[in-house]
Amino acid sequence: MKKRIWRIIIGAVVFAAAIIINIEWLKIAMFVISYVIVGGDVVKRAVRNIFKGQVFDENFLMSIATIGAFFIGEYPEGVAVMLFYQVGELFQSYAVGKSRKSIASLMDIRPDYANVKKGDELVRTDPDEVQIGDIIVIKAGEKIPLDGKVIEGSSMIDTSALTGESVPREVEVGSDILSGCININGVITAEVTKEYGESTVSKILDLVENASSKKSNSEQFITKFARYYTPVVVIIAVFIAIIPPLVIDGATFSDWIYRALAFLVVSCPCALVISIPLSFFGGIGGASKKGILVKGSNYLEALAQTEIVVFDKTGTLTKGVFNVQEIHPEGVSKEELLELTAYVESYSNHPISLSLKRAYGKEIDNGRITDVEEISGHGVIATVDGKKVMAGNIKLMKMMDIPYFKGELIGTVVHVAVNNQYIGYIVIADEVKPDSAQAIKELKAANIKQTVMLTGDNKSVGSKVAKELGLDKVYAELLPADKVEKLEELFSQKSTKGKLAFVGDGINDAPVLARADIGIAMGGLGSDAAIEAADIVIMTDEPSKIATAMKISKKTLKIANQNIVFAIGIKIIVLILSAFGIATMWAAIFADVGVTIIAVLNAFRALNVKNL
Ligand code: ADP
Ligand code: MG
Repeated sequence: MKKRIWRIIIGAVVFAAAIIINIEWLKIAMFVISYVIVGGDVVKRAVRNIFKGQVFDENFLMSIATIGAFFIGEYPEGVAVMLFYQVGELFQSYAVGKSRKSIASLMDIRPDYANVKKGDELVRTDPDEVQIGDIIVIKAGEKIPLDGKVIEGSSMIDTSALTGESVPREVEVGSDILSGCININGVITAEVTKEYGESTVSKILDLVENASSKKSNSEQFITKFARYYTPVVVIIAVFIAIIPPLVIDGATFSDWIYRALAFLVVSCPCALVISIPLSFFGGIGGASKKGILVKGSNYLEALAQTEIVVFDKTGTLTKGVFNVQEIHPEGVSKEELLELTAYVESYSNHPISLSLKRAYGKEIDNGRITDVEEISGHGVIATVDGKKVMAGNIKLMKMMDIPYFKGELIGTVVHVAVNNQYIGYIVIADEVKPDSAQAIKELKAANIKQTVMLTGDNKSVGSKVAKELGLDKVYAELLPADKVEKLEELFSQKSTKGKLAFVGDGINDAPVLARADIGIAMGGLGSDAAIEAADIVIMTDEPSKIATAMKISKKTLKIANQNIVFAIGIKIIVLILSAFGIATMWAAIFADVGVTIIAVLNAFRALNVKNL
């Protein structure tokens, strides 16, 4: 960057000197020198690309236009065009660099070191070298280097780099902490639960770095457009240079070659080529400021075309934190029932399991549990103290041929059996997230045609939640495979251009996340599999962020379209003017650089997500 700026400055000085000097041969020599300083690399790239088979690119256009200007004796124009072109390029690369940086304040979340506790000492270690189980200390003001669990101390944590949420979160012994957040006040000691490569911070950095490789349709359109456009422009320029002097009386070659060269300068498609991806880059960056990670421009674009939004229930629309409502033992005590249930569930990460373990509240002795088998959409089976214990829904009981309590119950019911003997059930209930109803309302306001909920939970809970939130449809008691089937059914209900989005937490719904046009995962609570399978990750776990993401998507598309229309429109006008000799080469270069700068500035608006 610095080298480029210096080249432009030195080139400009030599250029200015050349204009002032009055000795003819020296003047020309200095124009040539300044041209080489300013434009040498462009010509070099053009030649190199010709050998690579990419003949018609911007470097080529600029090189023939400026070298052509020298041949017809328009030295100042030749140098000036190259000079302005380089200024425009410099501006572009600065803009790209800046927007790259602002994405997730990328550089800001990467931790530099971890304080690893070795005996009584703290050793500054590269986060890459810290292992699972190591004890790290995070002092006030430091970044959390790896994901872990707090074992000592309490503090307030700033999660805004990951979630966009400005209210700090309180953590204490037992809380999970995510890398990339900043410890605000207290000193906390934590046990590392994930290696650096698997930690949140690395995942997010990877995700953001790869986001630009997935192209939106508008970007693909521009790439294709440039492929045909440039050769066509070059052919027209050749015609402009040759035909009029041959056919029109009094037309001179030097006049028309000049027009052809000006035509070539204007035709450079840089404004388009740069400003469209930059708009999407801005949109993705803006979204990440709100805690919404979009894995590619194509997904950001698709969001604006969403017609159907399908939700998972547990962990997505509801908190996934169940409270025990009733314990109904049969032939055992309440305590025994809860203990066995907590034990059989102990290896599962399902929200139900986590809640039951919390309700049990005591330490679990893993030595008492063997042969754990989790049957998704059903429940868990494991051997506890040598006895075969199973806990799950009525599907599991039916599958195992165990007679179970059949009365009407409101809530999610976990039935439990030991050695094929029914020992009772536990009724648990989940709460809807505070912003779920708002989320559905906003989606409807954004013209979403259908909001649907798919759940593996029972019908009574499913319809209660759907009614409370105002969802259009609900399908309950689904297995993961049934969810995919229902999704296929919903696909047939949208228009060909419309898109279907699925929002889930990844527990038992990774297949649907992957199958939907746009898979949206709740990132904070969700499983790693979900974050991998999803196209968009919502770090705050708030369903209302879906509507926010759609607004960002629409705004980004609008900006990209404005740039396409503006840049192509101005180009066509100046092209016509230059073909008729009305626009000089100076006007042409100003048009090109001017359009580029305006388009780039416009693209930057996509980064601003304050007032959507
Ligand atoms: P949802 O679609 O609401 O997210 P899931 O597909 O994760 O629900 O689970 C569906 C149902 O399967 C649950 O409501 C529960 O009855 C049963 N289930 C699944 N996993 C477990 C488990 N670990 N323990 C008990 N029940 C479970
Ligand atoms: Mg779920």
